[in-house]
Amino acid sequence: MKRPASARNIAGVSEQKIMIDNPPDTDIPEGASPSLLLQMLRESGAQRVLTQKPVDLGIADNPPFPFLAVVAQMEMRIALLLAVINPAIGGVLLIGPRGTGKTTCVRSLVDLLPAVPTSLCPEGCLPDGLVGDSHQSDLCPECALKAERGEPLYTMEPIRLVELPLNARLEDVVGGINERIAVQQNRVRLERGILSRADQNLLYIDEVNLLDDIIVDAILDAAAQGHYTVRRGAMAGTYRSRFVLVGSMNPEEGRLRPQIMDRFGLRVTVRGLTDDEDRLEVYQRVRAYRAAPARFVAEWAAATTAAREEIALARELVPAVQLGREAQTLGLELITRLKLDSHRAEYTLFEAARAYAAADGRDLVSVQDIRAIAPLALRQRRSQFMDDFFARQSEEDAEIQYEIDTISGNAS
Ligand SMILES: [Zn+2]
Repeated sequence: MKRPASARNIAGVSEQKIMIDNPPDTDIPEGASPSLLLQMLRESGAQRVLTQKPVDLGIADNPPFPFLAVVAQMEMRIALLLAVINPAIGGVLLIGPRGTGKTTCVRSLVDLLPAVPTSLCPEGCLPDGLVGDSHQSDLCPECALKAERGEPLYTMEPIRLVELPLNARLEDVVGGINERIAVQQNRVRLERGILSRADQNLLYIDEVNLLDDIIVDAILDAAAQGHYTVRRGAMAGTYRSRFVLVGSMNPEEGRLRPQIMDRFGLRVTVRGLTDDEDRLEVYQRVRAYRAAPARFVAEWAAATTAAREEIALARELVPAVQLGREAQTLGLELITRLKLDSHRAEYTLFEAARAYAAADGRDLVSVQDIRAIAPLALRQRRSQFMDDFFARQSEEDAEIQYEIDTISGNAS
């Protein structure tokens, strides 16, 4: 198995710093291939909070809880990492009750996000070859001039997490007329919205099911096209909006239209942990983090840096990852057997499997990759939102697993 060079460093970090003293997490997808990233998640799930001397970093704002310090919740963490590694997956929807760590987990992603070319132009222009395949567009006149003069059009900036405020209005989201300028200077100017500011970044919508349909539609359209146009009277502005969408929702608080559900690439059902030791570990870590956030984060810094490098390598590898013929056949057969109509099913399944292989440092998607990813990519694509949510969920997962086992004759 080919692995990126930094793999050894990570293994080194694991050996020195990470004590494996818990049983392996039980919610790892069945048949998951051993991947470095995944392995790190598993091992870090057992790391004890501890023994280093306090580090006073003098930071006033609390740094986010480290992603690697989140206990268990493998599906959620894998889905989020895959979406960062391959944005073509089309985002992640986290579904589950309150207090299960959805928001903490999303916010904790921040320290793992690699740097991306970030345009210096308000219109988001980037030179050829720096933007993912489909959303390539021309430079604005100003950037074209700059390019001629050999001036830089972008800087490398870490991907940011942009959170959509709960009370966001449509104008806030897509942009609109700057009212202050309109009143004070008696002229009309279009202002970029949250979607445009989320370009090249991660957009997080907590409680996406409570958002107005019209806003959700605007966001999903912009995400799908990679750009959007705002018209106000005679004025029009087109903005780039290539972002990874992460939504979360509590099914007790209202349903999400099935067509919206279908437009998220991966769907994760997040539940409270069932293992007593895990729950105790969560308590201890949260307590340690609250008591001394900077110190807690510093204890995880080396592992976090290693994981960030691993993710950056995986992102670079994704364009080269091919689908094996067997993997293709298995994926399509699963979709036929599960009677899925939406063509997003295979798109997401294959793109997620490519990210999964890349996370493992391989350039060929295997049957095992498809098996590991299928529940995330295929669940809840074929029926209406269900009343008895979790009951139905496990039935469906069992059925997916059954088909996987049937097709591959239980070979592992
Ligand atoms: Zn420009």
